[in-house]
Parts: sequence; structure tokens; C-alpha cells
Amino acid sequence: MNAPLTPERFTETRSTCCYCGTGCGVIIQSAGERIVGVAGDPTHPANFGRLCTKGNTLHLAAVRTGRATAPMLRETRGQPRRAVGWEQALDTAAERFAAIIDEHGPDAVGFYVSGQLLTEDYYVFNKLARALIGTNNIDSNSRLCMSSAVAAYKATLGSDAVPCSYEDFDHADLMLITGANPAFAHPILFRRIEAARAANPELKLIVVDPRRTDTAAEADLHLAITPGSDVLLYSAMLNVMLAEGLVDHAFITVHTTGFHALRRQIADSTPQAVAVACGVSSEDIITAARWFGQAKAPLSFWCQGLNQSIHGTANGAALIHLHLATGTIGKPGMGPFSLTGQPNAMGGREAGAMANLLPGHRNLANANDRAELACLWGIPALPVQPGATAVELFDAVHEGRIKAIWIACTNPVQSMPDLDRVREALAKAEFVVVQDAWADTETAALADLLLPAATWGEKEGTVTNSERRISRVRAAVPPPGEARQDWRIARDFALALGGKIGAKAEAEALFAFATSADVYAEHVVTTVGRDLDIGGLSHTALDRLGPQQWPFQANASAGTPRLYADHRFAHADGKARFIALETTLTAEAPDADYPFRLVTGRLRDQWHGMSRTGRIPRLYAHEPEPNVRLHPSDMEKHGWTVDTLLRLSSARNSIVLPVAASEDVRPGQAFVAMHWGRRSLSHDGVNALTVSAFDPISKQPELKHAAVRIEAADLPWRLTALRSAGDGGDAAEIALAWRAKLEPLLGEFAFAALTLDGRERPLVALRIASREPFAADRVEAIASAVDLPEAGNLGYHDRARHVTKRARIDDSRLTGVLLAGEDIAAPWLRAALRDGIAIDVLRRWIFAPRATPPVATAAPRRVVCNCFDVSADAIATEIRAGQTLPQIQEKLKCGTSCGSCLTEVRRMLSASQKH
Ligand code: SF4
Repeated sequence: MNAPLTPERFTETRSTCCYCGTGCGVIIQSAGERIVGVAGDPTHPANFGRLCTKGNTLHLAAVRTGRATAPMLRETRGQPRRAVGWEQALDTAAERFAAIIDEHGPDAVGFYVSGQLLTEDYYVFNKLARALIGTNNIDSNSRLCMSSAVAAYKATLGSDAVPCSYEDFDHADLMLITGANPAFAHPILFRRIEAARAANPELKLIVVDPRRTDTAAEADLHLAITPGSDVLLYSAMLNVMLAEGLVDHAFITVHTTGFHALRRQIADSTPQAVAVACGVSSEDIITAARWFGQAKAPLSFWCQGLNQSIHGTANGAALIHLHLATGTIGKPGMGPFSLTGQPNAMGGREAGAMANLLPGHRNLANANDRAELACLWGIPALPVQPGATAVELFDAVHEGRIKAIWIACTNPVQSMPDLDRVREALAKAEFVVVQDAWADTETAALADLLLPAATWGEKEGTVTNSERRISRVRAAVPPPGEARQDWRIARDFALALGGKIGAKAEAEALFAFATSADVYAEHVVTTVGRDLDIGGLSHTALDRLGPQQWPFQANASAGTPRLYADHRFAHADGKARFIALETTLTAEAPDADYPFRLVTGRLRDQWHGMSRTGRIPRLYAHEPEPNVRLHPSDMEKHGWTVDTLLRLSSARNSIVLPVAASEDVRPGQAFVAMHWGRRSLSHDGVNALTVSAFDPISKQPELKHAAVRIEAADLPWRLTALRSAGDGGDAAEIALAWRAKLEPLLGEFAFAALTLDGRERPLVALRIASREPFAADRVEAIASAVDLPEAGNLGYHDRARHVTKRARIDDSRLTGVLLAGEDIAAPWLRAALRDGIAIDVLRRWIFAPRATPPVATAAPRRVVCNCFDVSADAIATEIRAGQTLPQIQEKLKCGTSCGSCLTEVRRMLSASQKH
């Protein structure tokens, strides 16, 4: 056995977490070419050393399983891909792109990039599309999360600039969190909110969310509004403030325009008039308005709940209006704070890698901005034709207007709405390039050319977090195999393409970057004189000074924590604007055919499409399986018990999921987490149902809401397969192998879920449900796929009842189980595998049809504290014994490390006090 690594035996590299927009600093611990650990960076001003459950386990996703390690080319659709060298890969891509551009023009190709790329990657892709190819068809998956916030800031304040800082948390006397669940999605920011409340007990917290999330459960006032009624709510609040003299007329007169028109528009939106549509009482609306209007320093936060709407721009603007009406912006503790979902959504906006933007916060629609950038880049002109935004881009591919698409560092076949159409689009495309670190994403499966990219821990560059703070991302280890930095792949393709389209010299001049620092230096030049001026920054400066907030002009010694301190806004007249508001509710309203409101959101321990967190068994412990959550009254009304399989149908598609009861959703609503896709399920997950309708200004689709019908799926026949990876084994690798073998069979199942479990002894779990019993040969095909064939394993077969059972034993321990036709024992067998119970204790019970464990195995459990592996049952036991939070923490340690579980423990305590 290897000796444990001591600090002297590993190298430490400072970098940034690659998940949410909080932008926490991390210290990567590496030994040779392996990342072996991670710690929070105590010097980083975003997190001061703290990490959440996701950040704490970053090193566990730094694995080779599932990585793309060599360029893979598919010459003929339907045939497997084969490994090729980089030169052949890029030459082929250049040839295909050049031929399409030659025949159909530059707008026949497009790029779909990602908020997880570094600013340098974004910059090179953007230059490739616009300066070399001459198309504006480049958009980012940030379109799906932040574009409404961008549009709202620009419309009201004149610039895409978050005015606030994290340090404002400590000065606010009211926090309004709306359409966001930072307790799950930005946990370290929520820790800072908790700390601010602890320091100032007078600080009030209002949360606006259709669900009673962990964030909402902490609120002094929770407004569980009907999805889509945000503008009505904020208009009604403004009406109350006006009626009660809580607005700052002097500020409005001197620093804003458009107020009187807005006042006329919202005149009828009184609390009494909107209460029914909003689904909350007029009294609560009045209370929220008074608290906001009376606050000296109100700080409001929003995220996808406002942005992912067909009127996301109006949602954001309506919230910003509250700050403009009260003059609460630009000073400590106050302002409208949009939380970015991805680690570098902000950097992408700075580098202009979205269809309607250009580098340095320039606008494509502005002729001066285009001319200025053309001059900086040394090209005659930039293309004028607007580029296609995310939904439009895949629509254009579907309709054949875009024939070749290059997808980098994102998984649209999991994350876009109306996934059938996206899948069809990629099948129709003449040439699909996917550049990714992972070879096993839903999108990578459809690539004609898969290019291996470096990822977290292997990359050099910068990211910008939600508070405009630019941090360095550093490589601790080299990428595996032939994987390369993203910016370098884009550069090398540009050089190859230049040679094919008669622009070799131009390409060499445009892409003369030897390092990511060179790219950054050019990016800096595009910002000088702009609102985000970072003329004083470089990789070297950031290395010397640490993370800095923009603007940071040449000769500056520190960044800028707060914008608009002089109340001069970024519109030409220096005034902020109140804008007209769209008040349609949602793209789809429930009706007789689709009576439920489906809302989507995040889980605490998973990240986006799970391409990274989905490889870490312990991150399944908090929410072990995909499900749909319904209010208990809806379940009772329909006679559905927990775990009943339900079919959810929208106007686009149907999916099947087990149901879980939750009083966090209202009657008539359903909640499904966004994370689970086809790598975990036999269907595309919730985005098979979501609608691609989008906001007309921001073009952000309404991923948050759809109308659905829900009915029992009637799939009584069940199969469960479980397999232990052994002590410290790689369950993700087993799951990957299973998926490959099951894939040809999966489409035949009405429902299948493939998940991970365990910690020291990780395991893989497969659940299948069908209307009819599977034939014996089909069961055998699955048994072979999960490595539990008849030969060499214990078996039980009851032909009459269509029951087959298998058990695998290695080193006197149960390591695998297949239960087909009768899986009532699956929960305790799963616990037995996870606990490594010796076979002599279990042997005579393995095939028994009993629901309760015959021996003392740990009960099937949901883990609340991931840091110390503390289950909900263990916490409940302490609560029943009358223990207080400090006593529980003292005994179980839950909530004493990353703190991500604290909100849930507090909820459990407060629920027990109510009963
Ligand atoms: Fe990463 Fe968690 Fe920090 Fe977000 S809050 S950056 S996921 S450690």
C-alpha cells in the first residue's frame, strides 16, 4: 500500500473552481501528473478558503474515465469513429468548413461555445468566427443562463455591468433573493449571506420563488409566486412604494428617464389586482414593498428563475426599477446583483463571444463598435448580418441554413430545450465538431469529429466571477493523451482553415498567439477606454496582485468594487432608464390537456449536465436518483405513492420518472432537476419536455417552466442490477462500460435509470421498469451487459413467475446483484453492497423476497452532510433526542466543514418544533 501523501510530497497550485459563478479560489494538490486533492484558497476574496460540496470534491472528478484523449474522426455516419492525429483532424475540419463556406457562404457555419471556457478560449473562438470566417454565428451556452440579465442591465443602466460586490453583503439591511436558490447553486455566497445575517440580526431576507427551496426556508418573507408573474409582483411593489412615499423622487428626476411612462403602465398593477395572478396575498406584496422601500441598503439577487423566461429581460428590468425608484444603487450594501450560473459567463460577455456582442462590451448592431474592432484586429470590416443565438443556431442547423457546427465545452443535447429538435438538427448537419474534455457526453456521441480538450487543473487562463472579479486559472498537471488547451485548438484550426480559404497570411497575422498570456494581452487591448477597461491587467499582473475586479485601468493599483457611485450611468446621457415591461406570464399556461406547471431547478451536489459531478459517487448521496416532486395532496388525489413511476408529457415529448412527495412545491406544480440526462436515464430528462420559446430581446429560452400532463406509467415489471466497484474502485468506469453495452437495448425500456452510490465502496445501480415481463433471453442480454452472466455466479430462476436472480461473490463479499421480475429486496441489498457485508452473513437471504434486511446493514439512506457522511436518519435521531443545532454539530460534525447542509439541518429542526 502506498504511503499517504504528505504536503511535502504534493505540489500546490492556486486556481479557481470550475463550477458556479461564485468563483472560489482553490489550491490544487498534485503528485506527478495526478491531481490528488483540493483545498479552498484562504487568500481568495470570493471564498476565503471555503468550498462547497462540489468544490470540495473537484479532485475526484480529475479522472481519466470518460476523457477524450485523442482526436476521433467518423468518416461515414453510422460508422464508429477512429483515432487520428491532430494534423489530420484539423486538416479534415478545415477542408469541410472551407468547402461549405465556399459553396454556401460564411453564414453556413456556426460555433456554439460555453460559459465554462476561459476568457482566452472565448477570445480566440470569437476572432476565428468573425475576423477569419466572416460570420457572427457564434453563441454561448451563457445564452441559456445570463442573456436576460445582460439585456436588462443594458436597457436600464446602459451597460452589461454588475454594479455590486460580495463585500456589499456586509452592508445590506435587506436582501431580496428572487429566482435563485443560492443555498444550492451558489453555496459559498449563501454562507456569506448567513454570516451577514448573523452579524446583523436586523437584516431582513425576502425570497421570491415558486418553490420553498432551502433558500426560501431561511427567509423572513417567502413569496411563492406563480411562475412567470415576476413583473406583476415588482410592478405592484413599486405601486405600493409610490403610494406610501417610499420612492426617491429627487434621484428619479436627476438620474433617470422614463419613469412617468412606466408609472402609467403599472398604475393598475396594485397588490390587490395582481395577487391572484401572482398566487400570493396582497398583504405579503405590501410587506415586501414596505421592507424594500424602507431599507437603507437593499441588495437584490437574481439568477435563472428570472432569466429563463419569455420575458426575462423585463423580469430583470422590473427588479432594477425598484433600485432606481428608491435611488439604492452605487453605494455600499445596495444594488441589483445578477448571480452568474457558470464560472466564466461574465468573461464570455467581456470577450463578446455571443451572437449580438463583440469584444470589450461592444455591440454588433453598432457600426462604430464594428469599425473600432475591425481596426483593432486589422481587418477591413466585421460581418454585419446578425448571428444566430442558441435556439436560432440549432434551428438554423435543423433547417439546413447552417451546415457545419463546432461545439466547444458544452453539452447542448442535454442542456437545450426541446431536445428532440436539437438531436434531429445535429443528425441533419453535414459536419459536427465537438471539442470537449469528455468523450461520453450526449453531444459527443453525435460528433463527426471529436477533439480532446484540456479541462480544470490542466488549463491556463482567466475567468471572471459574478462580482466582476478576474481570477487566474492555472494548470497543475498536463492534460491526458493528446488533449490540448481550448484556445490552442481554435488557433490551430484557424491556421489550418486560413490555408484552405486563401487567407493563410491573414490567419497567421490574426492568430499569432504562442501562449494564453498572449491572447489575454490582446483581449486587454480591446477593453481599453470601455466600461470594463482592464488596461492595467495581464497574466503577470494577476499573478502578482491576485484576483481583481474590473474596471482596472492602466496604472491602477486596485480594482473597482462598486459601479455608479457617482450615479452617472452608462447611457449616453448619463441617466438610467425605466423601460416598458412585458407582462405575459409564461409561454405555456396549464390547460385541460396539460394541467400541471413543471418547474426546473438544481440539486445541491450536482452541476449542470453532470459530465463532471456525475462521476463522483458520493455526490449522489444527497439525491440518489432522478425523480419528479409533487405536493402530497396531488399524489393523494391521484392515488400515487412514493416511487410510483409517472409519465410526464408536454406538447413536445414524454418522459417517465419515479415520484417523490414534497411540500416544497405547491399543489398543481411539479419539480424536476435539470441535471439528469441520457447518461443517467433511458430518455433525455426534463429538457425533452421544456419549450424553446424565448425572450424577444435576450433570446433566452424559457427553460424554467412548461405545462405538462402527469399520469401513472403502469410499468409493474422491475429489474435492478447492482455492482460494487470494491474498496476505492471506480464506479464511474463500470457505469460507462454498462452504458455502452446497454445502449443498444436502452431505447426498448420504458424506464431505466443508471446511478452511482457509496463512498469508500462505491457502486453502480441500474433500475429498469417495463409494462410486460422481459423474455428470458432479454434478461440474459442485460445480465451479460452488467457482468452478471449465468456462468460463474449464484443464480435463481423461476420461469413461471419470470423471475431471475443472480449474485456475484468476490473475496467472500457480495459484489453484484441482479434482480429481474422481483426486486423488493433491492434497497437493503444495495446497502449491504455499499457496506461490504460478508457473504456468510447474507448467503441464505440473497434471493429471498423480503423488503427488510435480515442482518444489521445500514438502512437505505439519504446523506445530508456530504463532508462527514451524515445521514438524514442520524440527524433525525438527534433531533428526536432533543438536541440543539450546536449539540448536533458537536456530535455528528454535520455543517462544520463546507456548510452546504446547514440550511437542511435547520429545516429539519424547525419542522420538528412545529410538530
Ligand atoms: Fe465552486 Fe461551490 Fe465555490 Fe461555486 S460555491 S465556485 S461550486 S466551491
